[in-house]
Amino acid sequence: MRFTRTRSMMAAGASSALMAAALTSGTVVASDNNVVTQQMINEDAMHTDRVTSYGMGPHHQRYSSLDQINHDTVSGLVPAWAFSFGGEQQRGQETQALIHEGVMYITGSYSRMWALDAKSGEMLWSYEHRLPDGISPCCDVVNRGAAIYDDLVIFGTLDAMMVAVDRETGRVRWREKIADYQAGYSYTAAPLIANDLLIHGNSGGEFGAVGMVTARDPRTGEMVWERPVVEGHVGTLPDGSESMTGELNATWEGETWKQGGGAPWLGGSYDPELNLIYIGTGNPAPWNAHARPGDNLYTSTRLALDADTGEIVWHYQPTPNDHWDYDGVNEMVLFDLDYDGETVKAAATADRNGFFYVLDRENGALLSATKFVNEVSWAEGVDLETGRPIETGNRPGNPADTEGDEGESVVARPAFLGGKNWNHMSYSQRTGLFYIPSNEWEMEIWNEPVTYRRGAAFLGAGFTIKPVYDDKVGVMRAMDPKTGEIKFEVPNRTPLWSSVLTTAGGLVFYGTPEGYLKAICDETGEEMWKFQTGSGVVGQPVTWEMDGEQYITVASGWGGAVPLWGGEIGPLVSHITQGGMMWTFKLADIQTAAAR
Ligand code: CA
Repeated sequence: MRFTRTRSMMAAGASSALMAAALTSGTVVASDNNVVTQQMINEDAMHTDRVTSYGMGPHHQRYSSLDQINHDTVSGLVPAWAFSFGGEQQRGQETQALIHEGVMYITGSYSRMWALDAKSGEMLWSYEHRLPDGISPCCDVVNRGAAIYDDLVIFGTLDAMMVAVDRETGRVRWREKIADYQAGYSYTAAPLIANDLLIHGNSGGEFGAVGMVTARDPRTGEMVWERPVVEGHVGTLPDGSESMTGELNATWEGETWKQGGGAPWLGGSYDPELNLIYIGTGNPAPWNAHARPGDNLYTSTRLALDADTGEIVWHYQPTPNDHWDYDGVNEMVLFDLDYDGETVKAAATADRNGFFYVLDRENGALLSATKFVNEVSWAEGVDLETGRPIETGNRPGNPADTEGDEGESVVARPAFLGGKNWNHMSYSQRTGLFYIPSNEWEMEIWNEPVTYRRGAAFLGAGFTIKPVYDDKVGVMRAMDPKTGEIKFEVPNRTPLWSSVLTTAGGLVFYGTPEGYLKAICDETGEEMWKFQTGSGVVGQPVTWEMDGEQYITVASGWGGAVPLWGGEIGPLVSHITQGGMMWTFKLADIQTAAAR
């Protein structure tokens, strides 16, 4: 009898600690707090004593109701501790910390991971993934974070593996291959826990990788469902049966879909009530769009997937037949929108292509599309009836139309690094505004003939990125999602490449390549505090409370795509030194006392 009971609990997904308790007492007891459940992740944004998910909650708002650090007290914000990632090779620290039961879990460049005492910064364990020669990360050796679930911490590696380690010891519990790194696949995003599944995409859009979203049992790594995001490819359903994505050759000609790209290389968000996973897909391959006529679904697209089956419930494609490597991976932030007197379950996303889209997240209906950067050359707007861009004809020419190898070039704005890249915006419940880390730049782009070769870059394009303005590239913008109005702008000399955090203390935190973690007023943009971390900040600030004190933490360590791909932006950032530090702040004691 007891055996049967245990079996049925396993089927219901009970945790091992909970099962052990049930076996001894015969009744289900309150779950062990140290075991991370789907419910804890779903409610992450409501609990200020922890950060159990990437995005600070499955809605990815990156907003905290903590207000101990506020306009009056922020001047007393000082370092509590710092931790060095060590190693000879620094580069690109884009991680977001997770914090649970006094332990911080962080990832670093070259597929490394650590557990730290969140109070002292002391290291509890480290994991260094053994990387083979011949990996192909397009855009630096970064990692953006892990997921925690049950007693595991799980992350993806540059050789396209998922690795789960024991949260207490750092010992490997399972390892699964996502795809073949020798064919150009890699992984840098934080995986998502949704519907008690581990959800991840893949990277490799510059190598003709085929985009795929995969769901696994987080405890074992076993695949549950798999959904290719390029029409014509065949996915797997939870019962083992197969179904084609889209309709063969509906939006791709001939065999062009076979190496069609679309890598979902950034993580997704999740609505537990609708049980939908929201994830974006990368550029179609190759970049040269003359080689693949048609809309090229579902590349450069936002998708809503049924978390039970992985089937595509709806899609919205901001850039059909993408010709500029605008990708479509940027995060969808879920929020409630007052729209025509009703509250709509909405999602907002700021695309690399320069437009800020608000969608009904139940059905994908487009509610608004507004430019969030000054300079957009490829489209003059978006037709709200059809959802399609109104293009200006700013596409590079076909190499077949000119003599020699190069087609006619154009100058396009934004540059392919985007009006906003991967680094996440934040939605403040206090102001109802989005805070977008945007950039103003342009590119000269031209096409070249290209054929697919496994493991080699598959672009068929050449390009040079240039600044648009003399005095700034980065612009922090506060955007009203109801009106599309920009409430304020804060310029930055170099490109913004860090995520954003907002708090009920009326503050917006973000980092700069100049090395600062900054706090600005969420209503005016006035700078209220900054701290020099010693290297460029391209990490992701989060906040939590511990023993009555509010903490802020962020990774410092210059790198990422800008120094590798930035073209004429290079001289602006070439003096920035590399690093690898986790900086953690709290109020000096006297300030804490004053705030209480
Ligand atoms: Ca791309």
